[in-house]
Amino acid sequence: MTGPSDGRSRLIDAIVAEAKDTAAYTGRREFKASTLAAIAGIDRSEFVDAAQQNEAYLDRPLPIGHGQTISQPFIVALMTDLLDIDNSSRVLEVGTGSGYQAAVLGRIAGVVHTLEIIPPLAAGARHRLARLGFDNVHVHDGNGRRGRIDDAPYDAVIVTAAAPVVPPVLLEQLAGDGNLVAPVETAPGVQVLKWFHKAADGKVTGRDVLPVIFVPLTGGNPA
Ligand code: SAH
Repeated sequence: MTGPSDGRSRLIDAIVAEAKDTAAYTGRREFKASTLAAIAGIDRSEFVDAAQQNEAYLDRPLPIGHGQTISQPFIVALMTDLLDIDNSSRVLEVGTGSGYQAAVLGRIAGVVHTLEIIPPLAAGARHRLARLGFDNVHVHDGNGRRGRIDDAPYDAVIVTAAAPVVPPVLLEQLAGDGNLVAPVETAPGVQVLKWFHKAADGKVTGRDVLPVIFVPLTGGNPA
C-alpha cells in the first residue's frame, strides 16, 4: 500500500532530480527549502478530478476540464522558485485553473491574487482554496491581460498560460525589485519560459529559462 505521503515524497524526489538535470538551463540546481516545503505541504489530489486521483502525485500535467490543465509539479516548483518570494510578498497569478499553483504560492507569500477567465474554473478554485484554508489566496474572475490594478503593484507576477508577448500591463503592475515568470510563444508551437526582473529604477531585464508547454492565454486584446 502506498498513501499520499509516500506519493508526495516521491514527487519531491522527482522535482529535486529534475532540478539537477535542468540546472544548465534554469541556473538553479537546487530549489529553495520554502519551495519544496510548499509542494510537500499540499495535497495535489485535492486539485485534480476524481478520474485522475491515481496520477495526482506523478510529475505530469493533468486535465482539469474546460480544455485546461494543472501544470507539471516540477514546472510549478521552478516558476515558484524563480519568483524569489517570501512571507512579505504580494503576488499576482494569471491563470488560476485548479488553484494548485496559487496554493503553492500562498504557502510562501503574504498574499496571492489570482485571475481566471473561465468562470466555472474560478468558482471551483475559490471553493477549493477556501475549504483547504488558504485565506491569503484570492481568486478573481477576469481577463489577466489587464492585470489587476486594484492591488498593484505586486512583488511577483506569474503567468500560467502562453502568449506571443507578455502583456505589458503585467510588467507595469510589477513592483521595483520584482520578478515575473511567463511562458512565451516565440514561434507557432514553440514556447519558452521567460524570467524578467524589474529593477528599483524600473528597468526590465530578462532571460530564457526552459522550453515549456502551456495552454494558450486567451482573451485577445482587451479594450
Ligand atoms: N495555474 C493553474 C494551471 C493553469 S492552466 C493550476 O495550477 O492549475 C491556464 C489557465 O489560464 C486556464 O485555467 C485558463 O482558463 C486560464 N487563462 C487563459 N487565458 C487567461 C486570461 N486571459 N486571463 C485569465 N486566465 C486565463
